Amino acid sequence: MNEKELDILTKVNSDTQVWRPLEDKFGRRHTYLRVSLTDRCNFRCVYCMPTVEMEWIPRSEVLTLEEVVRLVKVFARLGIDKVRLTGGEPTVRKGLTDLIRDIKGVPGIKSLHMTTNGSTLAARAGEYRGAGLDGLNVSMDSLRPERFSEITRGAKIEPVLEGLAAARQAGFETLKVNVVVINGVNDDEIIDFVDYAAATQSHVRFIEFMPFLGNGWNRDHVLPYAEMKRRIAERRDLLPIETEPSAVAKEFAIGDSGGTVGFVTSVTDDFCRTCNRVRLTAEGRLKTCLFLAAKESLRDAMRAGASDEDLAESIHVGLQGKWAGHPSMEKWIGSDDKAMVQIGG
Ligand code: SF4
Repeated sequence: MNEKELDILTKVNSDTQVWRPLEDKFGRRHTYLRVSLTDRCNFRCVYCMPTVEMEWIPRSEVLTLEEVVRLVKVFARLGIDKVRLTGGEPTVRKGLTDLIRDIKGVPGIKSLHMTTNGSTLAARAGEYRGAGLDGLNVSMDSLRPERFSEITRGAKIEPVLEGLAAARQAGFETLKVNVVVINGVNDDEIIDFVDYAAATQSHVRFIEFMPFLGNGWNRDHVLPYAEMKRRIAERRDLLPIETEPSAVAKEFAIGDSGGTVGFVTSVTDDFCRTCNRVRLTAEGRLKTCLFLAAKESLRDAMRAGASDEDLAESIHVGLQGKWAGHPSMEKWIGSDDKAMVQIGG
């Protein structure tokens, strides 16, 4: 074998090596990337945006949309096939529709979803769908206008309801309503949300309240999954729905209504054993777990001229630092200096 052939082989092997699937030291294969596009939002939700004055990321430090697409291409070569766009509020980012189109065009990406507060959907749902967006999770933590305004510190519910109607009209394959349940704040609306899901034949997802910087979390504010389910089961038949092993929610059909509910139970019944998620922060840091501080700056590496192989290697190395799962919330609280709005869930 001559020298030239040897070089190619070494290159192929090293390339192949670099592009092996993303697996952590517990054997969990990572196929789902959550990308935060911004730390900014037009809402001020109490469980997400701290009351203290936020230090926004300077625009120059936020990934450009081209950098986002380049990183998605690298992740896709590492086996990522599902992407979710988050924030802050992703729809405040200019050029979002083009970004959706570009990401959907990346080889290997099978599905693209977005989590939004829904406030701009009435005007844009069709455009996002046309660009290739497959699914939407819309945050709506109350069905009562005055309480909605309290939880969001001043936003109106009407544009969100209109946004949901527009999203249904646009024919999204997946359309879910996310409800963060805070004991003593909106837990008395669980049945109303189940009725809403049944009446609109849609999916409502109840999320246990989690601690993040500045959201005043304590265990008394958590309404455990078991209690949510008990309350619903008093009124409705909940029929289990089989989901992917790595699914974050436990899902149920509401009798034969055509509506469904889900429960995200990070506090009382975590699902870390089958975790397939990795995150990219708005400033381009790798975040291997919702509850682990972000580390590797893929942005700095890119801007310093790193090759795609270098970036892939950094991602592999970074993922080896992922833990088996988060500790109890009381033990974890305060160990990350980021608010939910800076992570994107
Ligand atoms: S807490 Fe971390 S390890 Fe557990 S499921 Fe969430 S992202 Fe995965």
